[in-house]
Amino acid sequence: MATIFSKIIEREIPSYKIAEDDRHYAFLDINPAAKGHTLCIPKKEIDYLFDMDADDLAELTRFSQKVAHAIDKTLQPIRTGVIVEGMLVPHAHIHLIPIFKESQDFSLGKKVELGDTEMLNLARRISKNVEL
Ligand code: AMP
Repeated sequence: MATIFSKIIEREIPSYKIAEDDRHYAFLDINPAAKGHTLCIPKKEIDYLFDMDADDLAELTRFSQKVAHAIDKTLQPIRTGVIVEGMLVPHAHIHLIPIFKESQDFSLGKKVELGDTEMLNLARRISKNVEL
């Protein structure tokens, strides 16, 4: 059965899209740990990030770097942090989480409340700055 993230790629489920190329997709996390929290995924379904073919993992990392640069340019955090967990969705993904202050609770347990309008606005602003 297709993962929820594959359904997002196929537009069966809506997402706040940030960027896409032929092998990757990036979109805002719907339960963000910080404003601009983004997920980067390979289109090819695989559960565990570190089971990926090494070249595919390198490509996903390159794609994620470009998305992180767009987040940095748009939101100007101190930096954008990375979490890889994968305990909820069995489709490899990299969490990009902007860090706005040193005391920020940097974990997936911490959530911020953002409405639909703000999520749409964030996705629009960040996506404009993605240079693939
Ligand atoms: P994990 O598998 O623990 O790395 O976490 C999966 C992440 O996917 C969580 O942060 C969820 O909020 C996020 N997530 C689940 N469903 C969606 C969705 N439909 N759109 C955006 N993010 C999602």
